[in-house]
Amino acid sequence: MQDCIFCKIVAGEIPTEALWQDEHVFVFRDINPVAPVHLLIIPKKHIATVNDFGDDHSIAGAMVNAAAQVAKQLDISESGYRLVWNVNKGAGQEVFHVHAHLLAGRNLGWPPG
Ligand code: 5GP
Ligand code: ZN
Repeated sequence: MQDCIFCKIVAGEIPTEALWQDEHVFVFRDINPVAPVHLLIIPKKHIATVNDFGDDHSIAGAMVNAAAQVAKQLDISESGYRLVWNVNKGAGQEVFHVHAHLLAGRNLGWPPG
């Protein structure tokens, strides 16, 4: 999608190291990390929010699989990590290309802010 920063990352227009990827999903480091490990897991296809997956649940599943795979790769599967999906502005979503934040490497408080 034109003018979508994450579509530009997927297309290689903004050079970004892939930590993990498959046919459907791309994983990269957040530019403004809020934890020692802060990754973004995005579908390669433009989908605006979690509300827009529709009836095709396979992409969301592929994103969760990517999180588990990259966690294994970084050796944080057992020590723990958090997945966060901000959905719409009221929850803090700023980029309207759906993404999961993967956070780890520090104590993660509960409840989240
Ligand atoms: P949101 O607030 O929408 O849930 O999260 C968007 C995230 O994308 C933010 O944590 C922000 O730091 C990150 N971000 C925004 N633009 C870029 C970019 O160009 N490159 C990378 N790597 N991360 C970005
Ligand atoms: Zn997009």
